[in-house]
Amino acid sequence: MNRRTLLKSATLLPLASATDGLITSAPSARKRSLRFAYLGDTHITPDSKPMESVAKCFQHAQSHADKPAFILHGGDVIMDALAKDRADVQKQWDAWNSVVKANNSLPIEYCIGNHDIWGFEEAKSDPSYGKKWAVDQMKIGNRYRSFDRNGWHFIILDSVQPKPDGKWYTGYIDQEQLDWLKQDLAKTGTKTPVLILSHIPIFSPTGFFSEKNVKDGAWTIPAALVLSNTPELLKLFYQYPNVKTALSGHMHLLDRVDYNGVMYLCNGAVCGDWWRNDTYQQTKAGYALIDLYDDGTLERTYLHYQ
Ligand SMILES: [Zn+2]
Repeated sequence: MNRRTLLKSATLLPLASATDGLITSAPSARKRSLRFAYLGDTHITPDSKPMESVAKCFQHAQSHADKPAFILHGGDVIMDALAKDRADVQKQWDAWNSVVKANNSLPIEYCIGNHDIWGFEEAKSDPSYGKKWAVDQMKIGNRYRSFDRNGWHFIILDSVQPKPDGKWYTGYIDQEQLDWLKQDLAKTGTKTPVLILSHIPIFSPTGFFSEKNVKDGAWTIPAALVLSNTPELLKLFYQYPNVKTALSGHMHLLDRVDYNGVMYLCNGAVCGDWWRNDTYQQTKAGYALIDLYDDGTLERTYLHYQ
């Protein structure tokens, strides 16, 4: 190989790596549309460690010279409302609201997580039962929704569906929401870049982290870890090349899957190992800065705040 062919093959390298469908134009040509901070799985309690740590995380997220425009919360704001009485759940939301008030000046856009849903059996007739209380606390109006920000379309899904007994949940996008999602994507068209957020991942290898998910020599990943109607969602997204990314939390793990031009990102957890340890499996407690660009590309930087 002479110098000329060597140079030629060297210049081909970046082009070859750009064919994965993520980089649709030369990075120098793109302009950043928006920077936001993804915080998820804060699992706050009124105890001092979670309160101080979440405060620290908020301060860290706002300390960058290049500040995020808002915070996107991926769900599981509070430790757990599933089987707790009203007074206990109220204390957790109070802890969250007081930390936000004292430490955060950015707008927060929320997504519902499984631990935010009030499933206390004795409260079935209470109007706040189920997702209502979380929707009110998060001031989101509805359990799923969409909005536009700086040329990007954000779709926030409700991926957590309690089972009939109310004691446990499973992950899927219910029919009513699926119909809405199809309409929302059709309305948005195929040009505006779309970001999707669900608490439970749509597509993630993190279900493979535990050998508990192997039964009789076969992988059995429950829908509580990866949505049961993912195949349908993958087909839907394939019709929209402008669906660029799908973010999630829930697993407390950090991953990235690139599939059919969509970047699926699971974004760790602010609480790490539910405040027991700073690291869960191999992922350290943290949050992500996400930069969105006008050509539909994006970058994620996962940061440790402690
Ligand atoms: Zn969680």
